[in-house]
Amino acid sequence: MKRYLDKINPLVLFRDAKIFNRVHSPGEFASILHRERDRADRTGQEFSMAVFEVGNGSRKTHAARNLVPILTHRIRSTDAIGWLADGRIGAVLPHTRPERAWKFVANIRKAGVEPGCVKQLFLTHCHYDHTGGAAALRQQTGAVIVAHELDAEYLEAGDSRVTAASWYGAWIEPLRVDVKVAGSEQRFTVGKLEVTFRHAPGHSPGSAVLYLESDGKRVLFGQDVHGPLHDELRSVRADYVKSLEFLLSLEADILCEGHFGVVIGKQKVRDFIESYL
Ligand SMILES: [Zn+2]
Ligand SMILES: [Zn+2]
Repeated sequence: MKRYLDKINPLVLFRDAKIFNRVHSPGEFASILHRERDRADRTGQEFSMAVFEVGNGSRKTHAARNLVPILTHRIRSTDAIGWLADGRIGAVLPHTRPERAWKFVANIRKAGVEPGCVKQLFLTHCHYDHTGGAAALRQQTGAVIVAHELDAEYLEAGDSRVTAASWYGAWIEPLRVDVKVAGSEQRFTVGKLEVTFRHAPGHSPGSAVLYLESDGKRVLFGQDVHGPLHDELRSVRADYVKSLEFLLSLEADILCEGHFGVVIGKQKVRDFIESYL
């Protein structure tokens, strides 16, 4: 389905054009390789080629979209990257010994071919300090952005006041939200885990928390439990209190709070939430 959408979405095509414009075609790349081989023979200076598997051989897979921006960022001006005839991506590294080439590959992997594993980006609410990097993350990972519809509205409108961007002396670009949760609850599958995305308004109209069970423990991503509440943020105290009461009812073992880090232990989690009631 996603691949089908990629084919028809002009934005994706535009993004692809930008991502892939430094990747040589198989024909061009073959002649670059040929030239490098000749030069190495003539000068005795070796070169290396790193080859990256990027999926099923059909061009511009998800893996390729993740890999190429990292590669283009890392290569030197004398290096070249291109498609191999079998659909893999190669990087020619002139004057590079194999140890250096391995290091190059290790760095690429460390820099994040793995981001392709990130499938969903859950926004707990619209505030700038929680959403400012979302567009870049989506671009790097291909993840879909999920938010409650009541906060998605401010993100998509690029509202710098309600998103609190103006509090940071900044402004936000309109951000497309791929999945808008309506109503009070929606379940998502993340790897092997079931995650509940639950509307918990108060701090903002579309504030939400996420919770899941892992190794017999209930983990709660409680967003900005601490508030603050402010008219400009469209905060509503009565909703906030109700939401905190709901958080207490979850009896979570671990609370990941928006600003205060991780609180571990049922009692400590309870104490933390109650301190704001
Ligand atoms: Zn906030
Ligand atoms: Zn915050």
